Amino acid sequence: MSNYKCKCGNTSNFFIEHVLSQCGMYCSWCGKWIKWLNKDEELLFKHKQNEELQRFAQWLWDKHYLVDEAFTIRLVEQYQRSNRND
Ligand SMILES: [Zn+2]
Repeated sequence: MSNYKCKCGNTSNFFIEHVLSQCGMYCSWCGKWIKWLNKDEELLFKHKQNEELQRFAQWLWDKHYLVDEAFTIRLVEQYQRSNRND
């Protein structure tokens, strides 16, 4: 979601939160509401975040920053669980 910009200057760190039946996108730096996402945008957002997390976990693993592989897997699973809304 690189085409969004918060007034605080953040252009890359956002999170989504469900409010009733709507899905809002918020700034990760200041918490400001950015916009409501439709279903397609929401899926795209989750997909991109998932890719980023997996890249991050892989990078940590490559650098041997993680003590064990189970931690990497737990990290990814926790992330995926937190993004499941059914
Ligand atoms: Zn902000």
